[in-house]
Amino acid sequence: MNNLARPRLLSQLMIQLADEYFMREALKEAKKAYEAKEVPVGAVIVSGRHIIARAHNQVERLQDTTAHAEMLALTAACNHIGGKYLSACTLYVTLEPCCMCGGATYWAQLGRLVFGAYDPRRGYSTVATQLLHPRTEVTTAVLCEEATQQLTRFFQCLRS
Ligand SMILES: [Zn+2]
Repeated sequence: MNNLARPRLLSQLMIQLADEYFMREALKEAKKAYEAKEVPVGAVIVSGRHIIARAHNQVERLQDTTAHAEMLALTAACNHIGGKYLSACTLYVTLEPCCMCGGATYWAQLGRLVFGAYDPRRGYSTVATQLLHPRTEVTTAVLCEEATQQLTRFFQCLRS
């Protein structure tokens, strides 16, 4: 490896480590949903290196089909920064956002989206239209196995 490649590799490694760290925080949120018998999806929003919002799915508790983890986290983050745009923020969510949440990140001009498990049935990427904001960077499948396991366990419990 030459000396120029090393700093880039290091910064990629740092980003990967940070992504895993924040995804673990999102998984903790998902666990709260799981314990409350909600579909276990959790989200955190990071600005700089700080978590400015945490949320988990609360559709059952609030009896509100829009109370997805991402929607609640976006609202909390906007309240935190006192503005409607999150172009300097990263949303970490354990499951690929649905079309509603993907659309909400568009309106918020989200800077970066990082998700864990793919949602092949309801994920935003299953529709042909580009839902996300063109400036939103996307990283997929961070701690994908953990996120998938949590969801699988939940749906197994529902069936038994
Ligand atoms: Zn959603």
